[in-house]
Amino acid sequence: MSKEIAIVGAGISGLSCAYLLSGNNYNITVFAKAFSPDITSNRAAAFWFPYHIRNDKRGRDWCQKSYAFYKQLSEDPASGISMKPLVKVLREGVQEEEPVWIEFIPDGACTLTPPEALAPGLKKQYNVLVPLIETQIFLPYLRNVLEESGVVFEKRIVNDFEELSSYDVIINCSALGSRDLCRDVSVIPVRGQVALIKTDTSRPVYLDNEKPLYIVPRQDAMIVGGTFEENVFEEIIEPATIERILNTAYEFFPELKQHAVVGSWAGLRPYRAEVRVEAEPGTKVIHNYGHGGSGFTLAFGCAEEVSRLVKNL
Ligand SMILES: Cc1cc2nc3c(=O)[nH]c(=O)nc-3n(C[C@H](O)[C@H](O)[C@H](O)COP(=O)(O)OP(=O)(O)OC[C@H]3O[C@@H](n4cnc5c(N)ncnc54)[C@H](O)[C@@H]3O)c2cc1C
Repeated sequence: MSKEIAIVGAGISGLSCAYLLSGNNYNITVFAKAFSPDITSNRAAAFWFPYHIRNDKRGRDWCQKSYAFYKQLSEDPASGISMKPLVKVLREGVQEEEPVWIEFIPDGACTLTPPEALAPGLKKQYNVLVPLIETQIFLPYLRNVLEESGVVFEKRIVNDFEELSSYDVIINCSALGSRDLCRDVSVIPVRGQVALIKTDTSRPVYLDNEKPLYIVPRQDAMIVGGTFEENVFEEIIEPATIERILNTAYEFFPELKQHAVVGSWAGLRPYRAEVRVEAEPGTKVIHNYGHGGSGFTLAFGCAEEVSRLVKNL
């Protein structure tokens, strides 16, 4: 029997659910206060990498399913997804944290640079092949695909799930909106600020958690990040912070000084100690929010779990 499904939220969490649910005998409407490009999902870097997320079977499955999904989609150049080398370094003198993220990486996708080939100052260098999701291309692409398959998009602020009681299933992908919608104050904003410089797509994605520094060569610009500012609710850019981010990048890659600065942005990651993917007992609501700094890394794995929950509701 056909199901009427309401999805609240049009970021990567909402769109990935709509994508995996469409094609089943469902009528899907996505309700959102804001759409791409005016949402956090557009501000993501967004390379696949498990960052500050639960390290258990569920978390690993979500990451690996998303990896496989993006890898397949990278075969379509129009998707804005490509498989890119990522270099992750560990510096000398830095306390080595347990690299739990290695357990998340699909077999064969990660190698270590031999010690004799390491650049000065480095203790370790991991080389990983990861999906790079160019949000400025992928989010509109996904919306197009969804509209063509009959998914309806409606701009609307949902203040209470009761407003959607005529639907058979309500999927809550409202990220930070869940603070009000579900009165869940355990989801908090973690602001990220980044600079944009003229791009060089021949560079790998670069990740240095210790500094902290990441460089992401997209087609339109190179993202240089960034910050991880917990409980900051203002989505604003601070020029002094952008300058500091750029100076850190110049310290390690002086050649980047030749790249014109072309912009900057700030976004609020919807962080929660545990990503919430579950059906709320006694209701028609399935939650899918709190993906923090890994929303793209987790999206299609979480959406697959949501699809299973929808079938069982
Ligand atoms: C600087 C930065 C870099 C990042 N880099 C990466 C990265 O490299 N890799 C990665 O995987 N992740 C990265 N992230 C994290 C990623 O951006 C987020 O985890 C992801 O975008 C969350 O997606 P979402 O769909 O859950 O939320 P959002 O994109 O915030 O979407 C939420 C949706 O819900 C809607 N909404 C909210 N409340 C209501 C309401 N009451 N009624 C109706 N609609 C509502 C909003 O309008 C919006 O449409 C980064 C984030 C930042 C800020």
